[in-house]
Amino acid sequence: MLIGIDDTDSPKGMCTTYLGAVLARRLIQNHMRVREARLVRLNPNVTFKTRGNAAIALDVEGDPEQAFSLACDIVEELSDFSCENTNPGVVVTEKRLDPAFYRQAVTDFCEIDEAVNILDRAGARYKGWKNRRGLIGATAAVASAFPDTTYEILTYRESSRWGTKREVDRESLFTSEEATYPHTWDTVDFTNQVVVCVPHTPDPVLFGIRGESPSWIMMARSAIASEKPALEQIWVTNQGTDAHLLPGTCGSLCEGLSYCVQGIVTASPKTTIGGHVSFSIRDGPAETRCMAYEPTKNFRNIVRGLVPGDRIMVVGSYKKESINLEKICLVSPAQDIHVKAPVCAACSRRMTSAGKDKGFKCRTCGARSKDAEVTEIPRTLSAGWYEVPPTARRHLAKPLCRGGPAIP
Ligand code: ATP
Repeated sequence: MLIGIDDTDSPKGMCTTYLGAVLARRLIQNHMRVREARLVRLNPNVTFKTRGNAAIALDVEGDPEQAFSLACDIVEELSDFSCENTNPGVVVTEKRLDPAFYRQAVTDFCEIDEAVNILDRAGARYKGWKNRRGLIGATAAVASAFPDTTYEILTYRESSRWGTKREVDRESLFTSEEATYPHTWDTVDFTNQVVVCVPHTPDPVLFGIRGESPSWIMMARSAIASEKPALEQIWVTNQGTDAHLLPGTCGSLCEGLSYCVQGIVTASPKTTIGGHVSFSIRDGPAETRCMAYEPTKNFRNIVRGLVPGDRIMVVGSYKKESINLEKICLVSPAQDIHVKAPVCAACSRRMTSAGKDKGFKCRTCGARSKDAEVTEIPRTLSAGWYEVPPTARRHLAKPLCRGGPAIP
């Protein structure tokens, strides 16, 4: 059977993955076998999410009725029901569900009734609390099929420590990442000298290590010195796989969906108030604005290196009429040509325009010239992919160290 759970946490605490890790242990204590634990990230633009829009699924051998009852008990015991936005859902299905619902939940938006219809048709056991929105994530988790897979080991704190400062040795995190990158990623951000894998929220997570295989994440984990965790769980995940991306074209993008879009840069990128960088791309008559926000740090310097005429591919979520960049590919760099009025050969002063199609005129000595001064500025960017740093990376975004982006 597959057990799906979602929407048990609030900004004040708890984490659905912690609840899943505790449930896995209770199922084992009750003589069931847990074959796989899945951490399933869904559409990152869903507004109801607490943090990273995660749901979980456990693949279990045992008695479905007993498993359902244990799952419901643990949700009632651990969920933060006081928060208006916590609306848990539990699903137990003995039949595989159509992965189309997972695809919809990771790339688009779903309704509670759509999830309930699928569950009814499959004869699944399910329970939703309060407005039952958690049934969407729980159903998507049990319906999930990953064309690409990564792993994360999450360590969880003793409950007496929840809400207190996490004790994780900073140096050991950098050493760990040095030893295992690129087979692990996002433990730390070397360029910005920031720890990425330790949260700052009051939930049970101590730290999480992401990587290509259980052995690589275990090797990285063993190098980390910290307070003693209460629990550790290896999750199979769709993180770092670009599962959220759809192919898109300028002028036909939908709010809250994530795309890969091609176009030509229309004008030099501009830095706006707050340090955000913006520019537009054009595809035929349609234009789309692209944004590299301040938290994307050094990535903004890459974006500032684009010039009009560059053919690029941009990847990110379409929100408030712009694409929030996760990565870009400079497909075909344009020449960076600057055209100015020439310098007067007679008096060495810069000439000025003599009017449309009339060439240039020296305002000092009256000399005339037909030709402008054309300079080609060497490009700072070469063709290829560029991405935001680990500190700004979304859970689903595929890091370039994993190879070429998964472009749909
Ligand atoms: P955490 O990452 O800490 O577990 P969270 O960020 O996953 O928290 P939730 O508390 O699970 O946030 O809230 C997300 C809610 O949005 C859930 O009720 C889930 O069922 C719902 N949801 C997830 N994906 C979609 C979607 N594509 N369309 C509509 N609702 C969705």
